[in-house]
Amino acid sequence: MKDLLNNTENLYNSLEFLSDIGVPYILIDSNDCIKSITSAAVEMFTNVYMDKNINAIGSKFDDILWFIKKKFLLFKNSTENSCAFQKIVKINNIKWKFNCNFIRTKPDLILVINYHLEKDEYIKKALLLTAIEDSSENAIIGQDVDGTILSWNTAAEKIYGYSPNEIIGKNLSILDSDKSGKSIKNLLNKIKSGEEVKNYEVKRLCKNGEEVFLSLNVAPLKNYKGEVIGSCTISRDITETKKLTEKLYVSEKMFRNIYEQSPIGIELFNSNGDAISANKSFCEMFKINSISDFKYDNFFASPYIPEKTKNKIKNRQTSRITRRYTLKSNNSSLGIKDSSYYFDMLITPIFNENGDTTSILTQIQDITRVKTVEKMVYNFTNLSDDIFCILDLKWNFLNVSNGVESVLGWRVSEFIHKNIVNFLHVDDFDSTFNAINLLLKTGRITYRNRYICKSGKYKWIEWSSFVIDEDKVIYCIGRDITERMEREEELRKAKIAAEEASLAKSRFLANMSHEIRTPINGIMGMTELSLMTDLTEEQSEYLSVVKTSSQHLLDIINDVLDIAKIESGKFKLDLAPFYLEETINTLVNNFSILSKKKYLEFISFVDPSLTKDCLIGDPLKLNQILMNLLTNALKFTERGSIIFCAKRISCSEGKVNVQFSVSDTGIGIPADKMDRLFKNFSQVDDSYTKKYGGTGLGLAICKHLVSMMNGNIWVTSKESQGSCFYFTVEFSLVNKNQYVSNDNDLDVPIIYPDSIDTNEIIYNKTVLVADDNEINQRFICTLLEKKGYRYLSACNGSEAVKLFNENEVDFILMDIQMPKLNGLDATKIIRDRESKTGNHTPIIAMTAYAMTGDKEKFLSSGMDDYIAKPINFQSLYDLIDKYLS
Ligand code: ADP
Repeated sequence: MKDLLNNTENLYNSLEFLSDIGVPYILIDSNDCIKSITSAAVEMFTNVYMDKNINAIGSKFDDILWFIKKKFLLFKNSTENSCAFQKIVKINNIKWKFNCNFIRTKPDLILVINYHLEKDEYIKKALLLTAIEDSSENAIIGQDVDGTILSWNTAAEKIYGYSPNEIIGKNLSILDSDKSGKSIKNLLNKIKSGEEVKNYEVKRLCKNGEEVFLSLNVAPLKNYKGEVIGSCTISRDITETKKLTEKLYVSEKMFRNIYEQSPIGIELFNSNGDAISANKSFCEMFKINSISDFKYDNFFASPYIPEKTKNKIKNRQTSRITRRYTLKSNNSSLGIKDSSYYFDMLITPIFNENGDTTSILTQIQDITRVKTVEKMVYNFTNLSDDIFCILDLKWNFLNVSNGVESVLGWRVSEFIHKNIVNFLHVDDFDSTFNAINLLLKTGRITYRNRYICKSGKYKWIEWSSFVIDEDKVIYCIGRDITERMEREEELRKAKIAAEEASLAKSRFLANMSHEIRTPINGIMGMTELSLMTDLTEEQSEYLSVVKTSSQHLLDIINDVLDIAKIESGKFKLDLAPFYLEETINTLVNNFSILSKKKYLEFISFVDPSLTKDCLIGDPLKLNQILMNLLTNALKFTERGSIIFCAKRISCSEGKVNVQFSVSDTGIGIPADKMDRLFKNFSQVDDSYTKKYGGTGLGLAICKHLVSMMNGNIWVTSKESQGSCFYFTVEFSLVNKNQYVSNDNDLDVPIIYPDSIDTNEIIYNKTVLVADDNEINQRFICTLLEKKGYRYLSACNGSEAVKLFNENEVDFILMDIQMPKLNGLDATKIIRDRESKTGNHTPIIAMTAYAMTGDKEKFLSSGMDDYIAKPINFQSLYDLIDKYLS
């Protein structure tokens, strides 16, 4: 430079060149005024104008300006032609090296200044910057004051997705996630005012639309004048960190919640054993506000931690230790005063990678409730005399209560793990195994079996067992029912005995009725026959009394027999189609006559709608009820009237309900005696019995009959004013066309005619009468004789068979109970014989056995029909007619 300028000829050429390459220089004349100036010098200095005194020049680089001015003064006053000097100045931490040259060229002086960054440092910095920029994982972006992007490094490209070509020249606002670009504008404003921004967290928008979290450091860039001409942003991608922090935060919050909300009391000790934290449950358990209130706040000093555990932790012998302990009510050391507390404690030492204990975690669970329930269950199962046990699916006892001791005499330990077969009665094996198999299918079952006691005796146990699928065990509760079983056995035997006795009674009653009916039959028959002969008035009157008394006796026998049938369950309805009108008419007629005889008025009201219908019911039994009520009304009424009423109360779905009532103006019934009326053998008063007679069975039979007919019976009465008996019955309705009268199915009440018309056709037929009772035999034979039949009589079954074999017999009347050979066997013999000849002689059973079912028995043994004793002569004639005509 010096050489170049020394050559005066070339000076101005050289100056021009210097100007071209941007070297700042100033040409000063002898008056210190500026003659020429390069644009580089204009940039470097202020106040640099042509013809202005050099002293007026100013510069940002004050240090150097002062130095230059000083050097210029020295040079001006010297005789030197040139002078060169150097000055290094530090501006904004950057070292600048100034090379200045003064050259004396007549008449002018030239100042040439060259300044540049200190060379080594510059290269170092430049290299460093490039390296940093390229290798940095942080986005380094240069932008001017308005935010126009000037530089864009590789990391920026990676983070934002824009290549430098795409983005350089664009405005930073493109990266703002807030569309308004407000946040970037604010930032730029800050920078403009010279502020630096550090660790500023922002959200930015990438090219693909995704958002990234960045931490920004923005530094303003200034020119040599100190003006902010732009800024440099270094951005670190903290998206992952942010997410991680967020995750960490959530997880921390979650674990904190679990810790705090856990029902388990948690206490944490440091390696010295000092309590450092306790959760809410722990504080609640020990009734403290915070861990600092806890009396035993050092793990190793706590009396509730066993020494063994402490030592194990000290010696790093274990990682988890469980200890269960109990705090008693009078133990106030932990502040718990009110009652016994039970805790389960789990102690877990926590080690670091070197195996040193860093902390100790204790988890405490309040198991007081569980313990209480356990105790209750224990008491419940073990203080009970029932046996509570749990079996596995192979029927081994897993657990059993003290009941086995009190019931069977075994100790609990003698039962546990044993199979039930060791205790079970051999005879109960099958039933028990079947029961258990059924239990596994149904889930719940009750069964009984015998278990052996320690004494060797067996006891009956009733088990209620159930299974719960997931438990895979059988729960059983057993109760000693030995006494009950013995009682049941006694009862069973007593029941059998009672049934046998009842059967014997029924049989006895039936026999008795047979025995009594047979002579009555004789008495009545003979009286009947006697009354047909020529008698004096006196004789006739006596015989009438005999007839009435016999009838009365027969009524009593019938009642007793009915009760016997009811009690033995053999009382059945004989359903048949009938017209109510017929039944009622006969009764009303008879009772009108009887009432008249007692000077009583007899009124009857019958619902006309009832008279048309053909019904299905048992007319005989209905008749029996009505007879009983009407007879009573007549019996207990001395004056006034008897009113009979029958009305339909409902009719639907082929059923008709009829209500009957019989009211009288008789003696009435005291209110307190009403309830006994319908009981067996009960009468209102014994004195009535004396006055009025009767057995007290009639109403009991009525009640039973009514209930068989789906009805009710009741009474209203006022003492001395009269009574009204009501009853309802249900009948089925029959279509008229279906009704086929079959009188033979119906038993006709015994009504003895005053005389028999003997002038009827004489039949040329032989009837065999087999009856061991001589009187009966005579009566029947007389009846047959009167009708003109021939007859043969036998007094037992064998004689009957003999007579049948030896004679032409057209019709047989066969008694059932006979000596030597009874009627049924005799019939069988006769039928056997006939099976060879192909003949068939009608055989009619004659018996007082009026039990339901007997008829079938007779028919099945070969008999054709049945006639009840005492024989009604008309029924007898009708029967003979039926079979012989
Ligand atoms: P019995 O008439 O054979 O004694 P019941 O069973 O028919 O048997 O009647 C039982 C008792 O009910 C009678 O003894 C009588 O005391 C009373 N009783 C029945 N009907 C009447 C009536 N219409 N008026 C007064 N008392 C009656």
